[in-house]
Amino acid sequence: MPIRLLPISLANQIAAGEVIERPSSVVKELVENSLDAGAMQLVIDIEKGGRRRIRIRDNGSGVSKDELALALARHATSKIASLDDLEAIQSLGFRGEALASISSVSRLTLTSKPADQQQAWRAWVEGRDMQAELAPASHPNGTTVDVEDLFFNTPARRKFLRTDKTEFNHIDELLKRIALSRFDVRLTLNHNQKMVRNYPAVDSAQVVDRVARVMSSQFTEHAIALDVEHLALRLWGWVAPPDGCRHQADGQYFYVNGRMMRDRMLNHAIRQAYGDTLNDDRVPTYVLYLELPATEVDVNVHPAKHEVRFQQGREVHDFVLQSVRQALDTKASAKGSSTHSYQPS
Ligand code: ADP
Ligand code: MG
Repeated sequence: MPIRLLPISLANQIAAGEVIERPSSVVKELVENSLDAGAMQLVIDIEKGGRRRIRIRDNGSGVSKDELALALARHATSKIASLDDLEAIQSLGFRGEALASISSVSRLTLTSKPADQQQAWRAWVEGRDMQAELAPASHPNGTTVDVEDLFFNTPARRKFLRTDKTEFNHIDELLKRIALSRFDVRLTLNHNQKMVRNYPAVDSAQVVDRVARVMSSQFTEHAIALDVEHLALRLWGWVAPPDGCRHQADGQYFYVNGRMMRDRMLNHAIRQAYGDTLNDDRVPTYVLYLELPATEVDVNVHPAKHEVRFQQGREVHDFVLQSVRQALDTKASAKGSSTHSYQPS
């Protein structure tokens, strides 16, 4: 075959193949966009596990009429402009690919109204060149992204979807991760017109209420609270005592500078902290937040952004290990939040 440029829609579908695996990946991208837009309230409507519809309404800053088409284009982002910005990334997104990718494998409409614009507008793309169409709409300040019929044009992907219930469970799990990272944002999740989750916004004194809602009040009643600082590192949160740990790895939440991570090195440190106190049929159960200077950590290793690279990996590992171990040793109760001094081994 001769060399030729791919049609835009096909290039976008290939990009979608990398990050849009299932409905929960769409929800992740759209929720991150809403949070990046400063939204304080998100309503997520799911139909049929997300295969029929995923709709997210937010009260964030909105997209102006002039920028709607660009928001749907690939490599178009308002979040970084230079390599320096990339090095010091603050936002959750930055690749400028999500909306283009999702709209190439679904019927996506973006409706938005910035506070300083009289009229709301809506945009969608069609065809091989993904030309954007625009029409006036009615919408309060903020943005709605409506994704219908995910993978309707990519049968191979569609075939890999599981039951509606399983797909919805992935979405529910994703929302829990978000709920534990943004206590100040109100999150509502509906499935087939029924409210399934509602996480009201809480202030810093009520954080434990949010954790109880996500993890169960049993977890917060028995968990050991910790808050440890050492040099530029801080680790705080809750760990379950060995006999309160779950049998499945569904209660493991670790955040690095506010981003949820699944990192082998960190998992290892926590597992090691429990040592042989943990029965074979249980796994560590925790909600933990590690904070360190942004220059000490690279969160951009993986497009799905679950892995992390530390400048001082060994130090971070040992700090997490020692802090969790000391907390478990004191067997303090969750109610009397305890602060431990850190002693490097
Ligand atoms: P990225 O998030 O990597 O910038 P996306 O394709 O997810 O790329 O979004 C493209 C752009 O569309 C964003 O940079 C942002 O300017 C705009 N945008 C997307 N979703 C929203 C939203 N909910 N509210 C405001 N602006 C949004
Ligand atoms: Mg994005």
